[in-house]
Amino acid sequence: MCGVLGIWGRSEVAADLIFGLTTLQHRGQDAAGAITFDGSFHVKIGRGLVSRVFEDRHQERLRGTWGLGHVRYATMGSTDVEDAQPVHVNYPYGLAMVHNGNVVNFAEVRENLYTEHHRLVDTSNDVALILYTFAAALEQRDLRALTFDDLFSCVDATRRAIHGAYAVICLIAGRGLLAFSDPHGIRPMVLGVRQTPKGPEYAIASETTCLDYLGFRVEGDIGAGEAVFIDATGTVHRHQGPREKPAFCVFEYIYFAREDSVLQGRVVAAERERMGRALADVVRRAGLRPDVVIDVPASGFLFASSMAQALGIPFRRGLAKNHHIGRSFILPTDEERRRMVGLKLNPIRGVLEGRRVAVVDDSIVRGTTSRRLVELLRGAGAREVYVISAAPPVVSPCVYGIDMSTTAEIIAANRTVDDVCRMIGADAVVYQELSALRSLYGEISCCDACFSGEYPTHVDREALDDIRREKEDAGR
Ligand code: AMP
Repeated sequence: MCGVLGIWGRSEVAADLIFGLTTLQHRGQDAAGAITFDGSFHVKIGRGLVSRVFEDRHQERLRGTWGLGHVRYATMGSTDVEDAQPVHVNYPYGLAMVHNGNVVNFAEVRENLYTEHHRLVDTSNDVALILYTFAAALEQRDLRALTFDDLFSCVDATRRAIHGAYAVICLIAGRGLLAFSDPHGIRPMVLGVRQTPKGPEYAIASETTCLDYLGFRVEGDIGAGEAVFIDATGTVHRHQGPREKPAFCVFEYIYFAREDSVLQGRVVAAERERMGRALADVVRRAGLRPDVVIDVPASGFLFASSMAQALGIPFRRGLAKNHHIGRSFILPTDEERRRMVGLKLNPIRGVLEGRRVAVVDDSIVRGTTSRRLVELLRGAGAREVYVISAAPPVVSPCVYGIDMSTTAEIIAANRTVDDVCRMIGADAVVYQELSALRSLYGEISCCDACFSGEYPTHVDREALDDIRREKEDAGR
């Protein structure tokens, strides 16, 4: 998972671009990058947090009124900076690109680019595939007389070649900013406008929180199969390309997006509270009567507090979190992840002693976090520990860009809830029910392949094998 940002401005854009990336930092902390255009491209890419990558001198160097930015999420295979974004080419146009998602037919597209267009893709970065495929489509056109229809038909040609999830923003040197989503609209992307004395400016970002901070009014989502082009005069052109059944990633609502964002017209925080209330029903039906509900900070908070309220049980802060420590989820070995949970979370004495504690997390993937938490809570005196997951059991890997691990590592794959409970050492485990979750997102057609195994696009063994290999390589 990553965060993308594109700004079409009328004044120098670097400061907004860099600040905007900090508001998307939750979407990726592994690398950050930006590119601006003022007749030439200016690029800065580095590893780590936005605040670490960009210094004052970079802001001065990133000249221009249009720009793209990216924060990269650490999936384990590629933490190299060579795989970071933006990427750019100078032929047939100056083109720069950022994307969020994952291409599932990587090998096929790479082969095709070589045999059909003599373009060699020598990185494992899938945005390069999208960029080269788009560039190859553009190359077939009369570039001096390129119309908007031409541009959009190149986007549609790219969509026919690339399968998977992608929310793409492309800066076309001297021409404008282009954004397009895959035919299912799996990953989020929103458009905003800001009035300035010089005229309107535009921004495209993964989430509305970024637009809010930068002072852009949200115009709406760039949905399934849609493309938007802001030309050099500042005119916005929209195009609806081939559209499949929308399949917006439900995990954005559960974990990934920030709670103040509005995705597909719904406030993420409100969705999490609704999920929390639905969880209360399952806890009640399971016959559990905890004395206190606590959250796994910070992602469990909204689920836990609304669940507690619906149950009429006190919600307390039972775990303190060290916020200045990296992600445990992406560490390569189970032992490292287990240790990291203990370094990150510390039980708050007095809240837990002698009590039946319901601890609410957004999801259980490998079960490492929950197992360690149960130990910590018992160590702090909890009489019984019930682990509550706001997500249904994760049973299948995500092939669309969320690091979900492999089937072999996923604790609930091929296991019952009782098995999971035993493995993590809890007194009870309660999961959100998939049917309840589906009725919550109702008319928004979502992708829930991680819980149902029903992938909206064709997924062959190759894509699943790639994920497994990537993890194995990283674990070595
Ligand atoms: P696990 O320890 O493998 O069961 O991981 C579950 C924990 O990791 C939960 O606390 C989540 O907040 C977090 N988490 C779940 N999915 C992801 C993800 N794709 N990337 C990073 N963290 C995640």
